[in-house]
Amino acid sequence: MSQFFMKTSREVLDELEATDRGLVSEDIEKRREQYGYNELAEGKRKTAFEVFFEQFKDFLVIILIAAAVISAFLGKFESTIVILVVIILNAILGTVQHLKAEQSLNSLKALSSPTAKVVRNGQKVEIPSRELVVGDILYLDAGDFVSADGRIIENHSLQINESSLTGESLSVEKDIEPIAEQDVPIGDKKNMVFSGSFVTYGRGVVVVTNIGMNTEIGKIANLLESAKEKKTPLQANLDQFGKKLAGIIIAIAILIFAVDIIRGNEIADSFMFAVALAVAAIPEALSSIVTIVLAFGTQKMAKENAIVRKLHAVESLGSISVICSDKTGTLTQNKMTVQKVYVNQQVTEHNQLNLGDPIEKRILLMSLLCNDSVTIDKKEIGDPTEIALVDLGEDYRLDELVIREKYPRIGELPFDSDRKMMSTVNQYEGKNLMLTKGALDVLLSRVAKIETSNGIIEFTDKHRQEIENVNRDFSMSGLRVLGFAYKEVVEGKIDFEDENDLTFVGLISMMDPPREESAGAVSSCIEAGIKPVMITGDHKITASAIAKQIGILKEDAEAVEGTEIEKWSDQELKEKVENISVYARVSPEHKIRIVKAWQEKGNVVAMTGDGVNDGPALKQADIGIAMGITGTEVAKEASSMVLTDDNFSTIVKAISNGRSIYANIQNSIKFLLAGNMGGVLSVLYASLLALPVPFAAVHLLFINLLTDSLPAIAIGLEPHNKKLMKEKPRDINIPLLNKSFARRVSVEGVIIAISTLMAFHIGLSTGDAMVASTMAFSTLCLARLFHGFNSRSRHSLFKTGFFSNKYLWYAVIIGVVLLHLVLFLPPLMGVFEIAVLNATQFGTIYILSLVPLVVIQLYRLFLGK
Ligand code: ATP
Repeated sequence: MSQFFMKTSREVLDELEATDRGLVSEDIEKRREQYGYNELAEGKRKTAFEVFFEQFKDFLVIILIAAAVISAFLGKFESTIVILVVIILNAILGTVQHLKAEQSLNSLKALSSPTAKVVRNGQKVEIPSRELVVGDILYLDAGDFVSADGRIIENHSLQINESSLTGESLSVEKDIEPIAEQDVPIGDKKNMVFSGSFVTYGRGVVVVTNIGMNTEIGKIANLLESAKEKKTPLQANLDQFGKKLAGIIIAIAILIFAVDIIRGNEIADSFMFAVALAVAAIPEALSSIVTIVLAFGTQKMAKENAIVRKLHAVESLGSISVICSDKTGTLTQNKMTVQKVYVNQQVTEHNQLNLGDPIEKRILLMSLLCNDSVTIDKKEIGDPTEIALVDLGEDYRLDELVIREKYPRIGELPFDSDRKMMSTVNQYEGKNLMLTKGALDVLLSRVAKIETSNGIIEFTDKHRQEIENVNRDFSMSGLRVLGFAYKEVVEGKIDFEDENDLTFVGLISMMDPPREESAGAVSSCIEAGIKPVMITGDHKITASAIAKQIGILKEDAEAVEGTEIEKWSDQELKEKVENISVYARVSPEHKIRIVKAWQEKGNVVAMTGDGVNDGPALKQADIGIAMGITGTEVAKEASSMVLTDDNFSTIVKAISNGRSIYANIQNSIKFLLAGNMGGVLSVLYASLLALPVPFAAVHLLFINLLTDSLPAIAIGLEPHNKKLMKEKPRDINIPLLNKSFARRVSVEGVIIAISTLMAFHIGLSTGDAMVASTMAFSTLCLARLFHGFNSRSRHSLFKTGFFSNKYLWYAVIIGVVLLHLVLFLPPLMGVFEIAVLNATQFGTIYILSLVPLVVIQLYRLFLGK
């Protein structure tokens, strides 16, 4: 294998038959055929068939199969058939649910898969990283993930974190020169980049040398875990609860079995009944309900611009009590336009600059040279702050590309949000000038001289005072301010120490208006008991002005700067945190402290981020939210949710969806448990009072099939409930299955049991046990279906609307039709041991099965919410 790091970049390009103009389409296809896709081998995904068979591994299904075999031996073929039909239908439903959920979760994953910037057919394009081929010319910027191994062919202060390969957490400075020695550890291959690492600083261009399993990370990574999603905490809890409940129900089933035998019933019948009772009462669908509701819920959220990367995030979304949000681009439009310029010791409107004045011309040229952004065919590429400067140049017919060719760049120190500055070295009228732009407070501390109409003079306190006054005026009207300064240097290679002794030139201020939706989203946040906090790299006065406009900063709240937080201990920050609504001039490490302080106060915190250094804060937050448009790949990777529109109001929508999804899961589970309880209580009652059995085994299986599936899912898909955003955030420490939940389940279960048993007793009064069991079965079945309407929410149907959940209507109609087929079709009547009922008995069934719905609705209407 070639040792790319020992060769020059030219030799590597030649060997790979690549050029810096990129590959052409036919060549890419050929290379793909040769090397495949750029992906690490994953465990095999299960086929639909395998999923189907997996459904039979369930303990309850195994018992049912045993029961079917036993019935067949006893000659009760009808029961065998019913059981088999139930098993197969359940397995089909389970498979469809599994595949549907998997499909929507996969499409969600595809939405947040990483991308790479490459040159192809002579043009810079962004492609999914999976499509990279050997020989591609890959562009790397700060915050990008390296998604293949490559040899560096252009290097601008590139620094890369390779900890995933080497364990070394400090970034490595990269180089372009070939390395002479042969046996060099990965960490010392300075002219190479490796898949799995990320760019922490600078930028560079590499030619891809290896992809997929041939990369260094591919060689050490064993087969990745199969695509199996880890269970979310809620699923894990429900699984645990399900197991405990199963234990209790099996104990009850054994008790009933024993009582039946003691009473002299036939063993086979008693066994069948006990099995059917266990199957009907154990809510095996609990965790799959969560999966399916989460899958559909997250799909809906993706349509509303919030892509969930980690499923468990949805569960905590509804508990968020604090949102720490960036300002620029999230609360504001990120469409910046230059407003006023301060140069020559006077403030000038953006369209009143005089190109004939050397200093005014200089600030215009600097703003285009110390700038990486371009507009090509009206398409803006780059940082909005810099695009505003390119637009300013355009107003004076200065084309950024022409200017950049005339004053070539020979060195640079890229912008980063810790330093809040950027410098380039350009050849300028026979000299090498370092041009610096950045946040004024940082820049001013590095200024020694000032350029005035009387030439370059010493920078005095008076100058400083005057500039700070201008800056305050600009900031108070919500303008962002950039300072410009320069100095002469010897060569292109510069480092941070060179950003000193600068000559101040002027200020350019720009406007970035709040997004139209921000104020509304902030007020619905507050109404929902969520505290919005602005955290920005911008100036305190600018930030406060915008925060006031959108309602984040109220009279009683404070705005502080990063430097102030630095002086406070963690304890002090914790004490003050609840009164602070705006943090300005913060660096990424301040963000972690702010999140922790809120968390220690018992809050569930969402934090937005976009920069390369935001990763740790995004991970520390309960929900890390990355920006989809302006965010770096590193930030996206560290986040649990990505906003495809970078918009604050999308977070509020996502929280609202999160609350609904959680409530829907809870309601669906309540529906299952209350219905099952109704059935079990009825059986227990009859058994303890030595009455005939209220249901045949097949009845219980039928009810189980009918109610555990479609209606439960339909309740999980209840449309968004806006009222939930008028409530306080849910306390994350209160489990889903809490006391008040248990109380509701019990009350509802008891009411269903009472209706069923009333029907049973009315049936018994005819002296015909079969009439009694037909009535009890029909009533339980219908009562459970109708109870679905109660389970849609905690509110009265008069408030939520009767028809807003169409899925539930479909599910109930299907259930009612199927029940009537059983009640009226003679062959089915035989199988299900159904007696012929008269009209009064039918009337009784309908009335009694509506009792739980009517009683609970009346209670909610008059006494509840
Ligand atoms: P946010 O609210 O998302 O933190 P921000 O743009 O205000 O956004 P940073 O990007 O960290 O935060 O910028 C901090 C400061 O750095 C800005 O107020 C500005 O003064 C300065 N700055 C921003 N972009 C550039 C740039 N491209 N070159 C030089 N200085 C910049």
